[in-house]
Amino acid sequence: MNFPKLMDLQKLRIDVESENENSLLICDQGEDFILTDDLEELCYIRYHFAPPTENWIKNRMVWTQKSMQYKEKWESIFAKTACLIDWNMLIPLNNIIIMYNAANEEEQDDVCKLLDIEPYEFPSFDGDLLGLKWSFYGNIIINLSSHIDVAKTTILRDEEFEKELKFALLTTLIHELRHLGLESNPFLPKEDYPDSEKSESRVEEWCVATYESICDKI
Ligand SMILES: [Zn+2]
Repeated sequence: MNFPKLMDLQKLRIDVESENENSLLICDQGEDFILTDDLEELCYIRYHFAPPTENWIKNRMVWTQKSMQYKEKWESIFAKTACLIDWNMLIPLNNIIIMYNAANEEEQDDVCKLLDIEPYEFPSFDGDLLGLKWSFYGNIIINLSSHIDVAKTTILRDEEFEKELKFALLTTLIHELRHLGLESNPFLPKEDYPDSEKSESRVEEWCVATYESICDKI
């Protein structure tokens, strides 16, 4: 599968800066990022101005006390997968939050402490959800327990269980990154990313096609 080429990140930086106090406010910036309060999208967007690397993605991952036991097994696989998709989708990525049970209040509090935000800001989360885009902060959430439960109830043999779990987790990661990448970057070129791509069905189609084209490399 061919992805559109990576946006000109130097130009993007200039475009973001020139919108300061117009459509957005710059809250923070560093060598390779600018954090904005976007006044039109009504959310914070953290633009990353360097091609993504697996290490950078690992540094954007947040693990809770309850999900930590899965870190060793999944951290590299998640980072590798994210790095193999359309890099433009990663420009506005803030955090990939890996939770064991995202509907559990204690674990939600754990996340809020780690991110230094108030617990009431955590998005409402139905325990059955596989993942969620937390647009306000440019985060995505992966809900491990729902995947493990689904894989357990549908698959009997161990080998198939692992395969099914990998498919479920990685397609959720790709799916939520796609939503975030399309919806949290007002500078994304419309010719490559028309609004029609944002629909749930198109996001899922893109996600499955992307997974199929990269799964041999993971
Ligand atoms: Zn979706």
